[in-house]
Amino acid sequence: MKYLSIAAAVCMFCFASCKDAKKTEETETRISFFDRSGMDSSVKPGDNFFLYANGAWLKNSVIPDDQSGLGSFYDLVQGNLKRLRGLLEDAEKSKAAKGTAEQKLGDYYASGMDTVAIDKLGATPLKPTLAKIDAIKDYKELMSFVAESNVEGETFLLSYYVDADEKNSTQNIVSFLQSGLSLPEKGYYTRTDSATKAARTALTAYISKMFALTGTDTSTAAKNAAVVMALETEIAKSHRTPVELRDPQKNYNKFAVADIEKQSPNIAWTSFFAKMKVQPDSINMGQPDYYIALSKLLASQPIDTWKIKLKFDYIASNAGALSKDFSDARFAFSKTFSGQKKDSDRWKKMVNRVDEGLGDLLGQLYVKKYFTEAAKSRIDELVNNLQKAFEARIEKLDWMSDSTKQRATVKLNAFLKKIGYPTKWKTYDDVTIDRTNFFANVQSVAAHSKKEEIAKIGKPVDKTEWGLTTPTINAYYNPTNNEIVFPAGILQFPFFDVNADDAINYGAIGMVIGHEMTHGFDDQGAQYDDKGNMRNWWTTSDNDKFKAKTGGVVKQYGAYTILDSLHVNGELTLGENLADIGGLAIAYDAFKMTKQGQDTVKTDGFTPDQRFFLGYAQVWRLKSRDETMRARINTDPHSPEMYRVNGPAANFDPFYNAFNIKEGDKLYIKPEDRAKIW
Ligand SMILES: [Zn+2]
Repeated sequence: MKYLSIAAAVCMFCFASCKDAKKTEETETRISFFDRSGMDSSVKPGDNFFLYANGAWLKNSVIPDDQSGLGSFYDLVQGNLKRLRGLLEDAEKSKAAKGTAEQKLGDYYASGMDTVAIDKLGATPLKPTLAKIDAIKDYKELMSFVAESNVEGETFLLSYYVDADEKNSTQNIVSFLQSGLSLPEKGYYTRTDSATKAARTALTAYISKMFALTGTDTSTAAKNAAVVMALETEIAKSHRTPVELRDPQKNYNKFAVADIEKQSPNIAWTSFFAKMKVQPDSINMGQPDYYIALSKLLASQPIDTWKIKLKFDYIASNAGALSKDFSDARFAFSKTFSGQKKDSDRWKKMVNRVDEGLGDLLGQLYVKKYFTEAAKSRIDELVNNLQKAFEARIEKLDWMSDSTKQRATVKLNAFLKKIGYPTKWKTYDDVTIDRTNFFANVQSVAAHSKKEEIAKIGKPVDKTEWGLTTPTINAYYNPTNNEIVFPAGILQFPFFDVNADDAINYGAIGMVIGHEMTHGFDDQGAQYDDKGNMRNWWTTSDNDKFKAKTGGVVKQYGAYTILDSLHVNGELTLGENLADIGGLAIAYDAFKMTKQGQDTVKTDGFTPDQRFFLGYAQVWRLKSRDETMRARINTDPHSPEMYRVNGPAANFDPFYNAFNIKEGDKLYIKPEDRAKIW
């Protein structure tokens, strides 16, 4: 729940591949930063601004078979994948000495691309671990296996991360999260609509297939699938819903290990930590109900049931590192949620795998070639202008008392800003990469990342650490560091271009920056102070007014529908919607401080203000497969892109002036009902 990012993961299971994006080639000289031909002038801007700005593009573009959607994010991801592939292929050819960054990057990538060797092995790499599971006799041995696997990098049933203690933000704590499900959230185990039923059928088929591919006969494989489904349905009962997971207070439950041991004894916590060689004073149980239920189920369910569940979890979590039949089965399952017609190319998956595992090594090569100091200083300037604009808005708020305003300003000015890439790169000294053994490489990388995580337990927080890799096309706000983070990946066209005019840059990256800043003050972020501690700094009356205002936004977005009848979940998306509404307003105010913002000269036939809003609407253009959108509505805290444009615009007075929006237009909201929070 910690990081609040700008965008949804492009696809739930695999990173999407995208169409050729000529626009991201560095060699092209761009003469226009705005796609006029993509607009649909038959739509009135006041009826549907998203369609007015993007209608022709939506009509004329076709989602490629191997993608779950199409749009600015997808285009940029595609361009980036090509760049990263180039870097990895160069590293591969360099024949660098063993242990160097180039050797690790190049050989990891090359080993993953060697499908002849990988296919020849089939299920062989899984055998030692599957044999260990076979030998387990009772749940005590099972939990001892879980603990051992954990330090080796394999996660079963106990999921955790190590980060700042939310009420003592300079100190790290280990937090345990609910886990144990293969479907995206608990509702998938009980809802009876046809899309949900199809998801359960797909999972059943997937489990069965995973067993069949490891040599289990078909009828046993089918029985195993039924066993896993029944167990996960039981586990799901203890889970919190995605909306419940948004409450940071409820996710904060600090205990001594001895108390956890009493609460859920069968998990054998003390032995678990002993295997990790740590003795934490206290731990945070994000969702204690899951662990209480797990402890009971360990004793009440037959040991064979648990062994089947662990085997499936093990095979499934490694399916992407095995032969083609495994990855095909994995794709067949994942397309239920993505709608992709075709799996993405192997090289794209391998580029993502290397970025995920050795991100700081790849990031260094990436910034050397693709990120300029000129871009960094321009972004610095933009961020500072946005901060000034936000401060001015806080001063002018008519609903907040001076004392709360003063504390809000302190928090705003305390933002830690991370732009481009980390000041300190991680090393991967204990990772061993062998060009001829992909599976062992995957294990070495996983063991390293677990070791890195465990080493943080009980230590002070390292505020220089990043939560996303440098090439990532996303951004986030992290409440416990009170920081906004923009990796080099998102600091490029169409979000940002050093040569673009201010209207375009402020509408695009400006809104992204304003969005992340507003997260510090959304319904979750506002519960943390300037030092990143979850602590109330509001007066009661201001807090009541804030809640009433955010309640209005819940209602407004809850009325939006997609795919005919699916409603946006106003509670699930509240934080992101507040960030969008605030982000647009702050970006606009900052734009008005620029020369172009004060001017009236038209560009491409539009006033500076119109161009600002259009730039904003085009950056968020997205065409999505129905399956992806359906899955997002259930789990994604971001609203569908049409409402990320129309929602904030309809709440913002300058938008009405820029396009002469009047009562009677479909987006029209009465001035007194417009959400004016930050
Ligand atoms: Zn966000």
